[in-house]
Amino acid sequence: MPLIIKDEYPETLFREDGKRLDGRDNNELRPIKMEVGIIKNADGSAYLEWGNNKIFAAVYGPREVHPHHLAKPDKGILRVFYRMATFSVFDRKRPAPGRREKEISMIVADCLEPVLFLELYPGTSFEVFIEVMDADGGTRCASITVAALALADAGIPMKSLVSAIAVGKIDGKKVIDLSGIEDKAGEADLPIAITWYNEEISLLQFDGDMDLNEMNEFLDLAKEFLKSIHNIQLDTLKSKYIKLQEKTSKNKKDEDKKGDK
Ligand code: UDP
Repeated sequence: MPLIIKDEYPETLFREDGKRLDGRDNNELRPIKMEVGIIKNADGSAYLEWGNNKIFAAVYGPREVHPHHLAKPDKGILRVFYRMATFSVFDRKRPAPGRREKEISMIVADCLEPVLFLELYPGTSFEVFIEVMDADGGTRCASITVAALALADAGIPMKSLVSAIAVGKIDGKKVIDLSGIEDKAGEADLPIAITWYNEEISLLQFDGDMDLNEMNEFLDLAKEFLKSIHNIQLDTLKSKYIKLQEKTSKNKKDEDKKGDK
């Protein structure tokens, strides 16, 4: 895809062959890769590559609340810190967290809170640190997805995972999983998250222009692809435990061999 300089958006977001600028069909996700347990100092962690987005999430908790006055006597608290690295976008991003980062931290926390049993952890906090290393549209959805995975990796009891995706409209056509340029130059962008234990929408933001019928069509479209994202999250977690199981049984065999000698 050609390098697009800020404010020099292309006239059309589709190529002559009808594909999107990055070669995708309208209903095609960008490639997604997830890993868990990659940050050794954290209680749980995950890494996500979603198209050009590269995002780490590290989870700590339950632990003492700092500052103490934030602690709640009847339940634990969830704190989320979404940050974009200075080098993660085309224009240098100011290192201090801005209004957008505070907003995204808040919506990620709102999406994740319903799946945690915070009432079981009074006086403590769970902290999720999200670091966006490379950004190309849809980082809030990718952050929700990777943060849920990191919480699960930390072994924190959860009702279910949470998955998210953005759907939207570009050049009048419905598309899923908008890239950075599609997000900026398109007509509508609708980030959606779902909590799987009750299949309820835990995030629905909307930027752009569409009618109610279109909105319903978008919700159906999103649900189909949210399932694929959920499956990748589940497979990522399962593969961690399969590897652990293999390692344990290999260690046991080695021990048995030593014992036989
Ligand atoms: N972006 C940027 N500079 C910024 C913030 C965002 O270039 O300071 C880009 C980045 O690629 C991001 C996209 O704009 O993914 C869309 O940002 P938005 O606020 O819509 O959130 P997102 O789609 O990442 O959830």
